[in-house]
Amino acid sequence: MTRILIVEDEAQMRQGLKDNLEFEGYEVNTAEDGEQCLSMVEKNEYNLILLDIMLPKLSGFDACKQLRGKGFDRPIIMLTAKGEEIDKVLGLELGADDYLTKPFSLRELLARIKAVLRREDRGKNKGINVTVGKIEVNFSKFEAFEGGKNIVLSHREFEVLKYLWEYENQIVSREELMKEVWGMGEMTTTRTVDNFILKLRQTIEEDPSHPKHIITVHGMGYKYIP
Ligand code: CA
Repeated sequence: MTRILIVEDEAQMRQGLKDNLEFEGYEVNTAEDGEQCLSMVEKNEYNLILLDIMLPKLSGFDACKQLRGKGFDRPIIMLTAKGEEIDKVLGLELGADDYLTKPFSLRELLARIKAVLRREDRGKNKGINVTVGKIEVNFSKFEAFEGGKNIVLSHREFEVLKYLWEYENQIVSREELMKEVWGMGEMTTTRTVDNFILKLRQTIEEDPSHPKHIITVHGMGYKYIP
């Protein structure tokens, strides 16, 4: 069973989240502040932590940093209020996996939870070769093979393919790819993404003009189907 720790100081919000997640079949514990969060993680195993940023005693930022410092390596989703420093949330030294800005819908929360848990499951398989369309890929070594022969992919091609693969059967928007793979600093257009997808199809599809693995979802983005 997947066990989630909710760290939130507002009682109503905390209880509401707990009830909803339990209804979805998760086992849920709660903590009211950053210090309680740390002591609970020492005593129990959690698959995921929902961590509010503005907390008494120890902020969500500091709690997250300390958890990572102590070797907690499961996903952490930060809960932020509008205007809080999102850049900091996703900063590498902090080590959070994702964030949600309040107010968020339950549907959105559940989608994020599933996504980070799925990514984590896939992360465990990073060292092995996986089949993606007609090729085999080792995402941790940046190696790709077709019929046992090494083929060359650019670093970014690996990144795009990996992102789609991590979100198997889910729609990934062009904007999301631009943000997650290219990053905010670069000049990217949706056209750049589309051209990349065309190239990737040449690489992984048996028949690139009739793609079966990286399909276009009109008006929404792309979806990788194994
Ligand atoms: Ca709070």
